[in-house]
Amino acid sequence: MVMKLSEEVLNELISQVVRKDAVAIVNLLRGKKNVSEVKLAEKLKLTINQIRSLLYSLSNYGLVTNIRKKDKKKGWYVYFWNFEEETAFKLKHEVNQKKLDELKSQLKIEEKINYYICPDECERVSSEDALECNFKCPDCGKLMVQESNIPGIIKIREEIKKIQNELTEEKLEIQKDFEKKIAKTSKKIKKIVKKTKKAVKNKKKRR
Ligand SMILES: [Zn+2]
Repeated sequence: MVMKLSEEVLNELISQVVRKDAVAIVNLLRGKKNVSEVKLAEKLKLTINQIRSLLYSLSNYGLVTNIRKKDKKKGWYVYFWNFEEETAFKLKHEVNQKKLDELKSQLKIEEKINYYICPDECERVSSEDALECNFKCPDCGKLMVQESNIPGIIKIREEIKKIQNELTEEKLEIQKDFEKKIAKTSKKIKKIVKKTKKAVKNKKKRR
């Protein structure tokens, strides 16, 4: 199956975006179909209400879906849950896109702002403030020097590159999956057309 996150990436995503204590449920649901919430509660030693609250926070992101069945003996509904791999993959893609935007604006700020520091490290001031005090340290009077933020900029640039690579790979997978779905649908349509043609032919014959 395409569009599946590794366990490590998925767990990080769930604890970052949803909540940390929802990770265990996701791991129990993954790779299985229609897991009852009673079973989840038993396995995680939580009450049904606690389990439901976790499942609802996951379902707010479309990460889990449910089907309900009536318990014939007890007369109430039991919910069975499924984990949505594709939604998780797309959520990760969205998170990465947001991260990229944040890093880009952070980079702009870092490249624009200059700081001046005292060689004895008593003060760190913006270039504006440094100009006001003639580049002399307000504490000891020593001439302040421009702080190099190049290491910070390099670090942000590296992070940007890494996320851009991830985004490219993700886009490729989403595209592949989309093409697969299109192919499947056109195959179905062809089948229907063929069937219809045959039915029309038979009708004509009967006349
Ligand atoms: Zn100083």
